[in-house]
Amino acid sequence: MSNPLKIQQNISLKDFTTFKIGGEAKFFIEVENEDELKKACAWAKENSLPIFILGSGSNLLISDGGFDGLVVRMKNEKLKMNNDTISAGAGVNLNSLIDYCLKNNLVGLEGLSGIYGTLGGAVRGNAGAFGASISDFVESVRVFDLSDFTFKNFSKDECQFGYRESIFKKNRNLVIWSVELKLISGDTTEAKNKSKKIIEKRNQTQPSEPSAGCIFKNIKNAEFDNFLKNNPDINLSEKFLENKAVPAAWLIESCNLKGREVGGAKISDVHANFIVNTGLATAKDIIDLINLIKISVRAKFNLELEEEVEKIGF
Ligand SMILES: Cc1cc2nc3c(=O)[nH]c(=O)nc-3n(C[C@H](O)[C@H](O)[C@H](O)COP(=O)(O)OP(=O)(O)OC[C@H]3O[C@@H](n4cnc5c(N)ncnc54)[C@H](O)[C@@H]3O)c2cc1C
Repeated sequence: MSNPLKIQQNISLKDFTTFKIGGEAKFFIEVENEDELKKACAWAKENSLPIFILGSGSNLLISDGGFDGLVVRMKNEKLKMNNDTISAGAGVNLNSLIDYCLKNNLVGLEGLSGIYGTLGGAVRGNAGAFGASISDFVESVRVFDLSDFTFKNFSKDECQFGYRESIFKKNRNLVIWSVELKLISGDTTEAKNKSKKIIEKRNQTQPSEPSAGCIFKNIKNAEFDNFLKNNPDINLSEKFLENKAVPAAWLIESCNLKGREVGGAKISDVHANFIVNTGLATAKDIIDLINLIKISVRAKFNLELEEEVEKIGF
């Protein structure tokens, strides 16, 4: 198997995830430019290897057996500003991007402060919090299409954004290479305060141990209506009824699962929709807790929770 690129072998993926869990990648490469991405993917194709695109690993549970293919870590970290438009590489860290915008008097992204991960990962999962989503600011996305090995541009409409959804999530062939974002140019005093408050709130309400953020999606839209139909006697707070949403954390807490442990994994005492790695958790420990939560919520609320975190190599 010839290897003209900087492809490494048997690389532990643990340290490339926020969970600090996962086996080895059989092959691993970091790509900084379009040519490297294209060549690395062509090499994988020639050698009949599956490809996995890695951002910051903040939404992933990688199996203890690792990934038997080529892991491509996105390191396109270029940033360019043109008035109120930013063109950013998919590998740019989201929090660094927010800082860059605020330093350059651009407002908008601060609602996403404290979300881990790269811009590419955020766009793929339409990451969001506190009422804002990355899709609110996306103008267009440059993509490398693994089905025909060409780069193409997607307009915002073509991205098909929804709650934690996009075309990139539905079609694994689409690798996000860079993103054009439209922001608002103006005074950043308020935005900087907002960003600071959000980070303080996250520190108070989210665990500090290694995790992958929220494990399950919240119950929204049509699922919320079904939930009410299936649970006619349930007493929901005004806030849930107003937002037409039930947090997964509330459902898990209602099943008295906070603090439950399997091996080195624990349902956080701080936020029930977080599973944390207390030190030596395996992917199997996390899966066991995920299954326990799903079974308990199904039994109590007649509801199927859907994972937000992605499982790789299972
Ligand atoms: C403490 C904590 C808090 C969090 N809070 C939030 C929150 O409030 N809101 C929220 O939405 N999320 C939250 N998350 C989850 C996570 O940070 C986001 O989902 C983030 O956007 C994932 O980006 P990533 O670069 O880490 O992607 P990864 O975890 O590396 O990858 C996730 C998926 O995206 C794919 N992917 C990554 N980059 C690309 C690319 N360039 N092109 C195509 N596919 C790609 C991967 O193949 C994988 O399928 C939190 C996570 C943590 C650890």
